[in-house]
Amino acid sequence: MSLITESKELLPINIGGEMRLGGGDESATLYPATGEVVARLRAPSLADVDEAIARADQAFRTSGWAQRKPHERAAVLYRVASLIRERAEPLAQRQRLDNGKPITETRNLVASAAGTFQFFASACETLEETITPSRGDFMTMSVYEPMGVVAAITPWNSPIASEAQKVAPALAAGNAVVIKPAEATPLMALELAAICEEAGVPKGLISVLPGRGSVIGDAITKHPLVKRVSFTGGTSTGKHIAHIAADKMMPVSLELGGKSATMVLDDADLDHAVNGVLYGIFSSSGEACIAGSRLFVARKLYGEFMERLATRTAALRVGDPADERTQMGPLITARHRESVERYVELGLSEGANLRTGGVRPQGAVYERGYYYAPTILEGIKNTDQICQQEIFGPVLVAMPFDNEDDLLAQANDSLYALAAGIWTRDYKRAWRIGRAVQAGTVWINTYKQFSISTPFGGWRDSGLGREKGRLGILQYMEQKSLYWGLNEQPLAWAN
Ligand code: NAP
Repeated sequence: MSLITESKELLPINIGGEMRLGGGDESATLYPATGEVVARLRAPSLADVDEAIARADQAFRTSGWAQRKPHERAAVLYRVASLIRERAEPLAQRQRLDNGKPITETRNLVASAAGTFQFFASACETLEETITPSRGDFMTMSVYEPMGVVAAITPWNSPIASEAQKVAPALAAGNAVVIKPAEATPLMALELAAICEEAGVPKGLISVLPGRGSVIGDAITKHPLVKRVSFTGGTSTGKHIAHIAADKMMPVSLELGGKSATMVLDDADLDHAVNGVLYGIFSSSGEACIAGSRLFVARKLYGEFMERLATRTAALRVGDPADERTQMGPLITARHRESVERYVELGLSEGANLRTGGVRPQGAVYERGYYYAPTILEGIKNTDQICQQEIFGPVLVAMPFDNEDDLLAQANDSLYALAAGIWTRDYKRAWRIGRAVQAGTVWINTYKQFSISTPFGGWRDSGLGREKGRLGILQYMEQKSLYWGLNEQPLAWAN
């Protein structure tokens, strides 16, 4: 496996199982901590996209992958999991270079990708098709078929883990997959495809087509041979894809943005709540769809809680992603940092008070990277734009609340409904609020914990459909009913 390419050499991409240079524009991926070039590659041309999809379709029809017995496909996916684990450290280091996350986080993402392949291998070999209750002289069955070529479009914030969440169930179901990673982070998808092929996935069944989303992603989504799109990214892109899908009558799943509420009730264990809130918003530099970016604290606790939170926020270790003690690395690009800065200015223009952060950290280690200090804004209303728009960076907005009704009204007053967190010692309150809050995932006395066995997805502008969970494999399959006639006599109507 290649770890780091010569920065001047162009990296080949995977077009229908063939590693070659794309025919499109050249781009470079930069290490966000220093701005150095990690790799250069050429995006696919539109002809490359057509070729990759045609080859994927051919591989789907002729490679025999879909016809293998489930336990045979599963064996290959178990091997993918093993190979990822064998190469965990170089993969984690490569991912650190690709998107600048601290090494401790990229190790977790790599481990999560291996676990995802293992899980869907097991889902594949244990998936049951059913005999349904018959209502006539026939036996009825419900079975599942693969779809053909499916597309996985992923963002830059958690490469390998987000690709695995789509590729593993898609392959388990017997499909071919075209991966469109974010232009900023193409490396892990290329590594993952190479590992899949090494493990025994037939060549051509997987392609990796990095390149600008509005060109390459759009062409993939519109392609008539693409039968399903699994998308993770921003809400406006997701809505655009949903329109195309509607025209094609194509199923899609959309994992989109969030502005998740974290709620600290007046009986919360403050040590747990402070740690949980910090982790919820500032890990991954806030570049997480499920970041707990809107904080509501019971008014009677507000002063003490915010004092503790602000002190701890200012003490977070922001710095070199290669250092295992680092808690927050840089943001993904200079442009994204500017966008975060504009949001903070927007908040201030709406009357927010800057409790901490709001600046680029100073010092030699920060000079070349896209760092931004963890930031807390207060003195705003939930209806302000800064509380309604997703920033996707290390910026927390904090507000007091008066009672449960007030809390729920504010927490649910958002276009987004991806996740929520509740901190309380009272399990009855946790139950009440947990059921009333509108969100795809609710964490109680914890935050940002994940399990591949538990479905994940958002409501409203946070998305459509669910990933993960044992039945996640069914998203990549069509359901079919079989009727087996058992009549001793010909059907009577024609007599
Ligand atoms: P994005 O701009 O929507 O991009 C996501 C992916 O879509 C990238 O690969 C992008 O390609 C591609 N793309 C862009 N325009 C496209 C088009 N017209 N057709 C097809 N594909 C297109 O989002 P992002 O800024 O990379 O990611 C941040 C967003 O993702 C945030 O809103 C975050 O909340 C969300 N997210 C959601 C989840 C979840 O599970 N709910 C998880 C992680 C992130 P290029 O980047 O190469 O242009």
